[in-house]
Amino acid sequence: MQVDYLIIGQGISGTWLSYYLQKERKSFLVIDNNDRSSPSRIAAGIINPVTGRRHVTVWMADELLSFAWKSYTAIGHELGITAISHKNIIDFFPSPQMRISFMQRVEEKSPYVHSYAEQNQFNPLFNYDFGCGEIRPVYIVHLEILLPAWRKRLEESNSLLEETFEPGSLKISADSVQYKDIKAGQILFCDGNNSSSNHYFDRLPFAPNKGEVLIVDIPDLPPTHIYKRGMMLAPLAKAGLWWIGSNYAWEFKDAAPTREFREQVTQLLGNWLKPSFKIIDHFSSLRPATLERRPFAGLHPHYPAVGILNGMGTKGCSLAPFFANQLVDLLLRGEPITAEADIGRFTKLLAKKQIRNS
Ligand SMILES: Cc1cc2nc3c(=O)[nH]c(=O)nc-3n(C[C@H](O)[C@H](O)[C@H](O)COP(=O)(O)OP(=O)(O)OC[C@H]3O[C@@H](n4cnc5c(N)ncnc54)[C@H](O)[C@@H]3O)c2cc1C
Repeated sequence: MQVDYLIIGQGISGTWLSYYLQKERKSFLVIDNNDRSSPSRIAAGIINPVTGRRHVTVWMADELLSFAWKSYTAIGHELGITAISHKNIIDFFPSPQMRISFMQRVEEKSPYVHSYAEQNQFNPLFNYDFGCGEIRPVYIVHLEILLPAWRKRLEESNSLLEETFEPGSLKISADSVQYKDIKAGQILFCDGNNSSSNHYFDRLPFAPNKGEVLIVDIPDLPPTHIYKRGMMLAPLAKAGLWWIGSNYAWEFKDAAPTREFREQVTQLLGNWLKPSFKIIDHFSSLRPATLERRPFAGLHPHYPAVGILNGMGTKGCSLAPFFANQLVDLLLRGEPITAEADIGRFTKLLAKKQIRNS
């Protein structure tokens, strides 16, 4: 088999990369092992323009949000699904201090942080003593619909191989790659944390971060908003089901779900929520985060047949479409990638390894 590109991984990064290559009528094969606990398969899909306790506007928010809305709407039309919805966050302040901090951001005219006029609106649904504010616009990507729908499209065009990629079977030359009986012009790694143990990219400053989530049945909670009190409570596509999470652990024993998280969230829901709820499932995964919190996109500075789209950290849903589009512009037209995301910034780090190995 001969293709223009071999893509490893069909999480949100591999999905967007293959989407834009298909738009350019390029041939490709995606190899993906359908890992049910990969971050893309357990994420809420929230695209939130602010971050942290101080509600700081995220990097490139204006550009990323409008690009995400357009691109998910377009892929949704193409697949006949709803890939993205607009759902603002109602932020319930956990303390008077947090209320003051939030209102300061409102006074500073932070573009995404707003006061909420109907302070008592949510009394029938939640216990909250210190009021609430609104973050808008916020989007939610329906990953549980989008990823299988795109996978089906790949299968129908014979562009998907469901198996585990084995790095030992890969042979690289200056202008092509060979993997078993597959020949390709270039190989593009979208395999999340697995790239951190890959011969070509293991020097990149990956910093995996563990996150857990509970899936909860709350039939009497209207899915009009995403609700936040420390954690996010976000509606899933299936009526009555909600996603609640997450934590951010830099140190962890393994990637498995923990009893501590389940107990912590059960207690939070018990204190916060008025309608009854039932825990349905519990997942955890390692986010492909990076030390300087910026993605890795581009071609290896010393192996031009090898590329990467990775390091999406906590924000894969907004970063992946934007940088997949940029990577395709680089591959086909030589256009540069935004400097902060370009793996060219690690040319020295990646070069050292090449010299040592040669
Ligand atoms: C609990 C939690 C909540 C999150 N919530 C959000 C959120 O609300 N919004 C947001 O934007 N981001 C969120 N994230 C982050 C988001 O999930 C990631 O940024 C994103 O999913 C990374 O996507 P990716 O495609 O780069 O990598 P991955 O999701 O890791 O995908 C890699 C793919 O490659 C495949 N693969 C890996 N190795 C191999 C191999 N050797 N052979 C074959 N296939 C392979 C895997 O099966 C997988 O399909 C969350 C993450 C977690 C853990």
